[in-house]
Amino acid sequence: GAELDEQTRQLVQRRFAAFGKASVLFYEKPLEIVNASGVHMYDASGRQYLDLYNNVPCVGHCHPQVAAAIGEQSARLATNSRYLYRNLDDYAEALLATYPGELSNLVMTCTGSEANDIALRIACMHSGGTGIVVTSTAYHGNTSAVMAVSPSSYRNGHALPAHVRSIPAPSAHDLPAGSDVGAAFAAALQAAIDDMTANGIRFAGLLVDTIFSSDGVFADPPGFLRPALEVAHKAGGLFIADEVQPGFGRTGQGHWCFARHGIVPDVVTMGKPMGNGYPMAGLVTRPELLDAFVRETGYFNTFGANPVAAAAGHAVLRVLEQERLIDNAGRMGDYLRTGLHRLAGRDERIADVRGAGLFLGVELAGGEQWPNASLTTRVINSMKDEGVLIGAAGAYGNVLKIRPPLCFSEADADFFLDALERVLARAG
Ligand code: PMP
Repeated sequence: GAELDEQTRQLVQRRFAAFGKASVLFYEKPLEIVNASGVHMYDASGRQYLDLYNNVPCVGHCHPQVAAAIGEQSARLATNSRYLYRNLDDYAEALLATYPGELSNLVMTCTGSEANDIALRIACMHSGGTGIVVTSTAYHGNTSAVMAVSPSSYRNGHALPAHVRSIPAPSAHDLPAGSDVGAAFAAALQAAIDDMTANGIRFAGLLVDTIFSSDGVFADPPGFLRPALEVAHKAGGLFIADEVQPGFGRTGQGHWCFARHGIVPDVVTMGKPMGNGYPMAGLVTRPELLDAFVRETGYFNTFGANPVAAAAGHAVLRVLEQERLIDNAGRMGDYLRTGLHRLAGRDERIADVRGAGLFLGVELAGGEQWPNASLTTRVINSMKDEGVLIGAAGAYGNVLKIRPPLCFSEADADFFLDALERVLARAG
């Protein structure tokens, strides 16, 4: 219903003419973005936007070192993965060094969906079962198998397939004060497994996004995943950690969010930030799990593990280290959280501030109204007018999702906090 200028209207029309209804655009008035650098993106008129939505260019938009690595390698050699490439071994060793020693094998894919698809197959082969447990508003990708375990993809009240059960994300916010979040999550998992068993379905694994992004961002208390891992193992299944969103240092302590919970998953999947925009993804697991998988079916991926992906991925790891971006994510996350709590003290519509490092969720309520998705939508559209790009998460779309590039500064945080305060004041 928004009034669009003629140029935007034409672009929107061309988009839908070519891509049909499957095309999804952000904002009532969609943006034409033409370039980006660091924490900023620029529209066709040259206007600058602070990017708090980003979940791909983790080391900063168009980082020159990553762009150069991709450019140089694609000028030298870009082909399939069936030859020996030294740069691929260098990358694999550097990536695996960020993981606990037992997760010593890597599979490279092009998308997070493919990585989760393989993870599911490993869990099914290992357990001899098919049953998968996920959280209520989870998203894990777009292949048939992975969509089946993505409750957030189902529309119009469609039920999940018979082999899938969903349980509430581990949310202290939704439990009585003083509850043991990890114990409640493990009990829900056990009940889901018991229900499967009663229906003749053997449990294969628990698949969770370790920051529970689409469920609304849940990170505390640290350790809350440990009891669920024990339940999954006791029932003969695997624990699959989907690190597609929180991975590569975003949560501010080490590279991986699962470490926050003191666990070592059986399979870890990665994607989005892995190539800072170069499309690449993958998974790590224990060699015996991978061996069993490859014994049952062959595996080949034309583009996964190609030399350009190796160059991009290695450049990302180097920049994370050289620019100390993981420490920065931790520090800037604390700074933002302090500012958000200050705002919450003055504005009761901010019902909760949570998350870890530069992956924060801000739950909006509104007077009597909870959850307040309409306020959230208005805030997101007004923030764009203030020059800040931000998204929403959660079952009701009422949680602002804060996820900037990891090179975020105090000045960027102040710019965001000032804009949010102005927008909330106006959205009265
Ligand atoms: N897992 C999670 C948690 C995701 O957020 C996504 C993408 N939004 C995926 C998996 C799928 O990744 P891709 O789009 O690269 O297939």
